[in-house]
Amino acid sequence: MTAPSNSTDAPDRRHALRRRRENNAFALRELSTQDEARARHAELQTALYDLQVHQIELQMQNHELHRSQDALETANARYFDLYDLAPIGYCTLSETGVILQANLHAANLLGLPRSKLHRKPLGQFIHAGDKAALHAMCHAALVHPTLQSCEVRLVQADATELWVNMQAVALQSKLGEPELRLVMKDVSARHGADEALRIAAIAFESQEGIFITDAQGTILRVNHAFTRITGYSEPEVLGQNPRMFSSGQHDAAFYAHLWRTLAQQGAWQGEVYNRRKSAEVYPQWLTIAAVLDDSGQPTHYVANFSDISARKDAEAHIAQLAFYDSLTKLPNRRLLADRLALALASSERHRRLGAVLFVDLDNFKTINDTLSHHVGDLVLVQAAQRLQTCVREGDTVARLGGDEFVVLLESLSEATPDAAAQADVVGQKILAAFAPGFLLGGGHECHSTPSIGVTLFGAAHSENLDDVLQRADIAMYQAKAAGRNTLRFFDPQTQAIISARVALEASLRQALVQDQLVLHYQPQLGPQLRCIGVEALVRWQHPQRGLVPPAEFIPLAEDTGLIVPLGQWVVQAACRQLAAWAQQVCTAHLCIAVNVSPRQFEQPDFLASVLRALDASGAPPKRLKLELTENMLVSNIDDIISKMLALRALGVGLALDDFGTGYSSLSYLKRLPLDQLKIDQSFVRDLISSPADAAIARSIVTLGQSLGMLVVAEGVETAEQHQVLLAMGCDAFQGYQFARPVPVEQLVNL
Ligand code: C2E
Ligand code: MG
Ligand code: MG
Repeated sequence: MTAPSNSTDAPDRRHALRRRRENNAFALRELSTQDEARARHAELQTALYDLQVHQIELQMQNHELHRSQDALETANARYFDLYDLAPIGYCTLSETGVILQANLHAANLLGLPRSKLHRKPLGQFIHAGDKAALHAMCHAALVHPTLQSCEVRLVQADATELWVNMQAVALQSKLGEPELRLVMKDVSARHGADEALRIAAIAFESQEGIFITDAQGTILRVNHAFTRITGYSEPEVLGQNPRMFSSGQHDAAFYAHLWRTLAQQGAWQGEVYNRRKSAEVYPQWLTIAAVLDDSGQPTHYVANFSDISARKDAEAHIAQLAFYDSLTKLPNRRLLADRLALALASSERHRRLGAVLFVDLDNFKTINDTLSHHVGDLVLVQAAQRLQTCVREGDTVARLGGDEFVVLLESLSEATPDAAAQADVVGQKILAAFAPGFLLGGGHECHSTPSIGVTLFGAAHSENLDDVLQRADIAMYQAKAAGRNTLRFFDPQTQAIISARVALEASLRQALVQDQLVLHYQPQLGPQLRCIGVEALVRWQHPQRGLVPPAEFIPLAEDTGLIVPLGQWVVQAACRQLAAWAQQVCTAHLCIAVNVSPRQFEQPDFLASVLRALDASGAPPKRLKLELTENMLVSNIDDIISKMLALRALGVGLALDDFGTGYSSLSYLKRLPLDQLKIDQSFVRDLISSPADAAIARSIVTLGQSLGMLVVAEGVETAEQHQVLLAMGCDAFQGYQFARPVPVEQLVNL
């Protein structure tokens, strides 16, 4: 650069020029006299020349000036390029942390245009958790002359967070004030990578055991959980092959399949039994993944595993609950069904017979009810143990529930008599095993005997499981009927009865649908032998069997629940008859007594169904009488009384049928809102020959009278019986002596 040296000579040169100009003026004045014009001319020539020189000099200076200005501008622009466009954030802060200047990259990092950054505190862009770190760094930079740095999170206006590394150094401003020059670098990527590494490290130290091998299966790394689960420390296994954990429980085919799957799918998982350092074999859930290189070749294997012993134990416990009885630990009904199904299949295959023994404790209910459930449980547990001592290893003793056990014997002889003899031996052993008393603790004991029903299986083809159990059950009932504490084989005749019952039930259902039921009516007569009403007695008009009496189907209907729709039909039919009779003067006074079975009466909607029948037919409720039996009075007496009161409130009459044969307590009797007592026909039958029956009949009459009830005698077959009962004070009579039950058309004739 030459301009600066020229510019320092310029004043001297200007001074010389001025002096020369003054001299010229003086000379001109001196030459005014002679040769004035010539001299002046010469002087002027010189001055002109000087001027021209001077002009050239000026022009040169000007040119220099322009050049240096250009250079300055170029340098300036380069500086701004470097500063503004630097790939690093620069900014200048005041002593108080306010942004004075920032380059484009810094503005980018802060997330605002530069125009909006001016005089904003930098702290405003810093994550709350990092403000203190920034403050500390700025403070240190102002105090110490060295470069200070920190890493903080920037929070941009749109909440984006960036990790930046900040370096700061203190400078003096033009005015001599302290300033901070800040350099900012985005280090988020490194932070992300650090985080990923940290996560990987934590994941590696998870609850699951992990080991990593090279492609040859040499163990390279293990985690802490590995050591916790296997008992091996890292140094003990590094460089080893995982074969060292093998329990020997899996064959070569298992491992071959594992490696094949790994090769084909890159991963394998499954249950493996391995051995801990302590030699204990335990189940683990193992996942192996292959790490492949760019050419698809495995470089490493990563194995994760968890100890699933606890889960296995829980599963076993659940299975125990599902298939075993919790009290006796014997197989339950479900497991028995499984085993019996297998036994049936196997006996068919091997042509060996098997036997099922159905064992029921005779007086267990009494023990349970009178000595407590705890004692009941003690007896059941001991009974289970005794049963198990009576069978061979492969036989099954199961508890069906309550006091019912089943013993399943397999692989007996091929011939029925031999197999029956073998089953009988076991049955006799069981009877003997129950002979000693059951110990209840504290020196107490109680006795319980078994009734055993036995059936063989495997003789007939395609036998089914329910058939076999049902046969054993029937045989057990035969044992009970034979006086208990005994054993009975299933008898085909009994089976025939059962089958007939099943068939009867089906056809009774049909009878209800096809309207095969009819009502017969038997008159009830007052003291003057005037008909005061009738009892409706149901019959089944069977298409093949003709008229079937109620004794042949009512008990079955009661057992099966069919009594409910059947009883409803009877009430409806009787009400329709009452409504018809109400239209005629000669029949309008007649009552109809309808038999109601306990099961029917206890239906929650019994009352409603009677009401519906009355409403639908328009029958007068006062003419309807319901005959209840003592058997229904055994439980829920308050409930029964409230139902009876409701019926009475409707005007419906109530009679107690077959009185004297049931279990009714006299104290209940006085609470019941009854209109009538019916002396059971068994007392009437032997009235003449048996003084005891006569005494009972008499006391029933007295009882009825004192309770304000009408007493009706049923089954009156002779005039003598009628006379005796009349003499006792009986109010009404029903029996063959007067009339048999007949269809309604024949009733008119009577
Ligand atoms: P129950 O209510 O005690 O009916 C009286 C039974 O005695 C009737 O038998 C009747 O025919 C019979 N009987 C009447 N007089 C004499 C007699 O002088 N001598 C003898 N030996 N028997 C006589 P039935 O009709 O065979 O009915 C038997 C039982 O069936 C009834 O006994 C009753 O408990 C029940 N029953 C009948 N119909 C129905 C009904 O619609 N519903 C319900 N739940 N049970 C009914
Ligand atoms: Mg009756
Ligand atoms: Mg009766």
